[in-house]
Amino acid sequence: MEFRYLGNSGLKISEITYGNWITHGSQVENDVATQCVRRALDLGITTFDTADVYANTKAETVLGEALKDERRESIEIFTKVYWPTGPGGPNDSGLSRKHIMESINGSLQRLQTDYVDLYQAHRFDVETPLEETMQAFADVVRQGKALYIGVSEWTADQIRQGHAMAKDLGVQLISSQPQYSMLWRVIEPEVVPACEELGISQIVWSPMAQGVLSGKYLPGEGAPEGSRGADKDAGGNMGDFMTEPVLTAVQGLKPLAEEAGLTMPQLAVAWVLQNPNVAAALVGASRPEQLDDNVAASGVTLEPDLLAKIDEVLGDVVVRDAGQTDARAPKKRPT
Ligand code: NDP
Repeated sequence: MEFRYLGNSGLKISEITYGNWITHGSQVENDVATQCVRRALDLGITTFDTADVYANTKAETVLGEALKDERRESIEIFTKVYWPTGPGGPNDSGLSRKHIMESINGSLQRLQTDYVDLYQAHRFDVETPLEETMQAFADVVRQGKALYIGVSEWTADQIRQGHAMAKDLGVQLISSQPQYSMLWRVIEPEVVPACEELGISQIVWSPMAQGVLSGKYLPGEGAPEGSRGADKDAGGNMGDFMTEPVLTAVQGLKPLAEEAGLTMPQLAVAWVLQNPNVAAALVGASRPEQLDDNVAASGVTLEPDLLAKIDEVLGDVVVRDAGQTDARAPKKRPT
């Protein structure tokens, strides 16, 4: 496993980070979730990403239980705040001081730790003054409950504003967590250049487009049994990719992966890691064997002619519109 600095900080993270959205506390049983965490550790993954909202807090509980006997200094635990987890009261979501202060305490309890390494704003809250949010995050850091702060799915302008305020408050905003894969490149025109300038890394979600880039979903056929695409709850977020043109184009990557001596999952994970602004690919896994496969992408270099061939094969199914970050952002606080 190779390690990269997270933004302009001294914190090193495993360039393949294990995330537990959709899987822990919902799609997979707790014993399989624990086996995945054990396998991740055995394979050299030290960094784990979760959020209070995953499986409505259960994902944090499962991860906390699986990691509780690990030496705390040897792992990095990331979590997030924004989406609602409580009974849906007016202050049960967003980035108000009240919700941030209450949420961090709940997360620490469930994760069985005194601090998280990174506390992330899971979206931008249009209803709370940004000054209030950043002051609350700074206080969480000063209380020792989080070491660094980050954001997720913020636009380049929002990142600039948040970074400037964090700097004035003396805290380090060092990461941005957007969706990024061969198929979804909307951060390239604006978010990545802004972050390079500010010393912020991307830790990217769904690098395998939720499994689509593994090539296991064949055009015109049903999703394989046991896959996320076949699960009526878990598969609900895969609409961007479960289309005939996308699935057909993805099949065209198979000979390229073979030629490079990689599996399709390895090609997908290695692809995002070629971007120097990416500090980690946040991979999911519903079973331990998937991690064996995916982790072999660490340290792989993809040659420029292979990258060009990938672009040629995928053609116009790739989404590059920078406006997608704002277009998909919540327009009011969720309840
Ligand atoms: P991936 O794109 O890596 O998809 C993971 C899924 O793909 C697995 O659960 C598995 O699903 C399938 N898969 C993985 N490896 C293989 C393999 N080798 N062969 C075949 N299928 C495979 O990432 P996720 O969508 O899971 O997201 C990863 C993490 O990113 C999350 O856990 C979370 O930490 C973060 N995230 C953050 C978001 C945000 O808003 N900030 C939003 C979404 C995710 P299956 O076996 O069920 O088909």
